[in-house]
Amino acid sequence: MLEYRDKIVQEVAACACDRCGRRLTPGDDDWHEKLSVEYRGGYFSVFGDGATVSIDLCQQCVRDALGPWLRICPGV
Ligand SMILES: [Zn+2]
Repeated sequence: MLEYRDKIVQEVAACACDRCGRRLTPGDDDWHEKLSVEYRGGYFSVFGDGATVSIDLCQQCVRDALGPWLRICPGV
């Protein structure tokens, strides 16, 4: 029989766009449209060996900064 104990966890409460500074919260209509990327580069990363790269963008900044290169397929 498994026994359980209470555990305190953290959840994201807000996100500030790194490009425009707009602050999003889970109650905002476009909360789920933001883009958050974080990864660790390898030995030949242009950012430095083993560097961690991260960014959070609102959907307007994703479109404005990456628009020409995004592959967008219409939803069903
Ligand atoms: Zn933005």
